[in-house]
Amino acid sequence: MNSFYLPILIILCVALIWLALAFAFLRRRLDRYTRTIRKIADGDLPVAGLSENEIGLETLSLAVKSLVDMQQARISSIDTQRAELATVLDRMTDGVLIVDGAGKIQFANPAVESIFEIKDPVGRTVVEVLRQYKLVEAWQRSQASGQPEEESVELSARHQFLQLVVLPDQRTGGSLLLVQNLTRVRRLETIRRDFISNVSHELRTPLASLKALTETLREGALDDPKAAPRFLGRIETEVDALTQMASELLELTRIESGQVPLEFIKIPSTALLFSVADRMRAQAERAGLTISIDSPQLLPDVKADPSRLEQVLVNLIHNAIKFTRSGGEVVLSAQRDGDMVRFSVQDTGIGIPADDLERIFERFYKADRARSSGGTGLGLSIARHIVEAHGGRIWAESKEGRGSTFYFTILVER
Ligand code: ADP
Repeated sequence: MNSFYLPILIILCVALIWLALAFAFLRRRLDRYTRTIRKIADGDLPVAGLSENEIGLETLSLAVKSLVDMQQARISSIDTQRAELATVLDRMTDGVLIVDGAGKIQFANPAVESIFEIKDPVGRTVVEVLRQYKLVEAWQRSQASGQPEEESVELSARHQFLQLVVLPDQRTGGSLLLVQNLTRVRRLETIRRDFISNVSHELRTPLASLKALTETLREGALDDPKAAPRFLGRIETEVDALTQMASELLELTRIESGQVPLEFIKIPSTALLFSVADRMRAQAERAGLTISIDSPQLLPDVKADPSRLEQVLVNLIHNAIKFTRSGGEVVLSAQRDGDMVRFSVQDTGIGIPADDLERIFERFYKADRARSSGGTGLGLSIARHIVEAHGGRIWAESKEGRGSTFYFTILVER
């Protein structure tokens, strides 16, 4: 009996031990796979993936491996998209805010900080960040109705024009707020509107005179040998004024739109003053004025487009002559000012009221007292554009009745 069962017993024992070992081995592998799959589910991917026959179960191993690869590809594509989105949000000039249902800011891009002049908006409330009651009300309306809302405000203290769009998120109960700074667009619109109205206004006066003059001629003055040449002379003056305005306008538009290529070369500052003074001397003398130069002998050269720089000086001297009574003087000078040369044109003329000083460089702006001077109001605007295109600055100082000084700076040539 014993000798009969013993081998069977031994075989059974060996089989049991083998089974137990195989089971333990399998268990350990499966545990490892379970852990790996859990990690994958948590988004924590094994860097090198898994070997294909780690437990000898090729199919399972391959399935897990392809799952890992797929997840890895998906996560890296999400990472790329997230990085792209973050770059867009960082660079955007419009403000983007994500607000939760309670009105707390969950996310704000950098533009929000600059638009609302507030540091670290995240964690603050909508009221703290938006501050303007009209904007806050728009957000409240959208929260109450669940509908998108739009609102715009003009912040006169900061000369800003803002537009807010609130997009509610039904899912979270919060909302997405987009804030656009429309200040520049608004300013351009105003400039364009003012420009058109100014041009029409400036055209109306000479055109009305031309109409009146031609009618007078038609109604008989043409046959009056004394009156006819006088009227023709006045027509010619009006046409000249219109022609000058048209050419200055064209010039201004070309400079503004960058169509006038500047050719920068080295220009000796003092020589430039002498050459322009010579050019303008006859005109100054005809008006009973003296023109002189007051500048140090040793001045650095400047880097500029010679004909444009001369144009600035000519415009300034032309004004100085126009607005100074006979017997007065015009002094040109230049001085080094850091890495710039500061040119100036000083006159002893009628001066400019303090209120007008800021505005004389605007297109068509004429100080009230100069209304009858017959200018176009474009000369200083052209000068400003040229100086700014050179990287310089132009400004004026004046005392009414005592005279004005116009300054502008141009970079020194190194
Ligand atoms: P315009 O001389 O054709 O009217 P500008 O743009 O050159 O146009 O000048 C704008 C205005 O600035 C002038 O109408 C005048 O009121 C004022 N202005 C400019 N230069 C002088 C000056 N040297 N003295 C007094 N007023 C000046």
